[in-house]
Amino acid sequence: MSSNEQTYSRFCSFCGRESTDVDMLIQGPDGVAICNYCVDEARQMIDTLRKEHEAQRQNQAPSKILKPKEIYDFLSQYVIGQEEAKKTISVAVYNHYKRIFSPRKTADDVELEKSNILMVGPTGTGKTLIARSIAKLLDVPFAIADATVLTQAGYVGEDVETILTRLLQAADYDVERAQKGIVFIDEIDKIARKGDNPSITRDVSGEGVQQALLKLLEGSVVNVPPKGGRKHPMQEFIKVDTSNILFIAGGAFDGLEKIIAKRLNKQAVGYQNKSRQKISDENLLRYVTPEDVRKFGLIPEIIGRLPVITHLDPLDKKALKNILTQPKNALIKQYEYLFGLDNIELQFTEGALDLIVDTAYRFRLGARGLRALTELILRDTMFDLPEKTGTKLVIDKKFVENKLQHLEPEKIKLSA
Ligand code: ADP
Repeated sequence: MSSNEQTYSRFCSFCGRESTDVDMLIQGPDGVAICNYCVDEARQMIDTLRKEHEAQRQNQAPSKILKPKEIYDFLSQYVIGQEEAKKTISVAVYNHYKRIFSPRKTADDVELEKSNILMVGPTGTGKTLIARSIAKLLDVPFAIADATVLTQAGYVGEDVETILTRLLQAADYDVERAQKGIVFIDEIDKIARKGDNPSITRDVSGEGVQQALLKLLEGSVVNVPPKGGRKHPMQEFIKVDTSNILFIAGGAFDGLEKIIAKRLNKQAVGYQNKSRQKISDENLLRYVTPEDVRKFGLIPEIIGRLPVITHLDPLDKKALKNILTQPKNALIKQYEYLFGLDNIELQFTEGALDLIVDTAYRFRLGARGLRALTELILRDTMFDLPEKTGTKLVIDKKFVENKLQHLEPEKIKLSA
């Protein structure tokens, strides 16, 4: 037999199965072979080992806690504008992780309270993006919960504990990891008490839910149904301690500005009209106080558990254009990359970009609308893409005009 002649094996060298008993027998050198069953098994062993290593790594305190400035700089790679929110949150997150990783040594040490965050601002201005980016930076499990589907126990809807089910799932059911994760509770304003009358008896979607949420926010051990859904006595629960979970709540709080304006104008009595005028021209949310949020309908206990309040500004045209082009994963960069994979150079002219921004702004589609519009503009082109390989494609104002001339803004689907 010559040296480069291959010897084939009829048996798996690992489990001994014959080639006829397996789907595939992969041949190696010198008559060694491995069957598909053993490959699968080896794969599983490697995965388990990797997960164990990863879990060990996660459970160790980070070698260094990121400073607020570092958190802010990271956020700025993804989030345009929103300076106040980015700064406030950088500090809150810094304090939160300092608290987790510097436990009290003696009972006499000062106990650092949790710095859960409340973000107030119009939809589509970056609240979820900020929360998501923080989780990415810290490499901790992250879950988004929609407050509108929550109901108090016993009513149709989701129990608040299902929020933690999602976090557990994001942590691959590693409870230790989940307990250091971040939960973003969206649309918290939708569970505000309806009206100023606290005595409404059956307030399924309002105060009752807030009371239930309180338990999670204040830090306690919660029984979590591992697969979500309704809690029922036969189900086994996983115990999750929420003391070190960072909760970030967000909402548009429509109508809050009126409450703020009323308060400010009351305070402004005696000043000249000019200062009043100036205040009402600005984004009033920047003056938000816990008391305003209470008036809006969140119960004081919840507000007390969300001690850091910050606001987001509405996005003007300049911000929209920056969102389109600047962040690390800006939409235009993504399309350039996508086209690049087909070896096509994609270029947008300034005129084209401005028209996309103007359209999104005019129809109040916000930042989410930018994606929907760009997708619409490029859809036909992308359909024919593979045939255009090796070319350069310039998208100019005329091209965009052409694509958007029959635009029906109400039909634009704004994805999350
Ligand atoms: P919401 O405030 O409703 O939570 P999101 O954070 O979900 O809004 O924003 C929706 C999308 O719009 C994001 O995925 C992102 O692409 C874009 N976006 C919104 N605001 C900003 C911003 N300030 N900087 C960069 N992108 C943004």
